[in-house]
Amino acid sequence: MAIVKRKIFVDQTKIACVGDKKGPHPKVYLKVGPRGFVSCPYCGKLYILAEKKAAGIA
Ligand SMILES: [Zn+2]
Repeated sequence: MAIVKRKIFVDQTKIACVGDKKGPHPKVYLKVGPRGFVSCPYCGKLYILAEKKAAGIA
């Protein structure tokens, strides 16, 4: 698993990540899985479904 640099709470399961300004990062589409989160393989951002946060999981 990639090092988590940042947590981002989202309200939908399909996310487009373009990364930060530094470093190569193609536009990738990520899908939040049944566990409620997904990390970007390029920049390590962790996208967490907001409803999971409300449930106290994240
Ligand atoms: Zn990314």
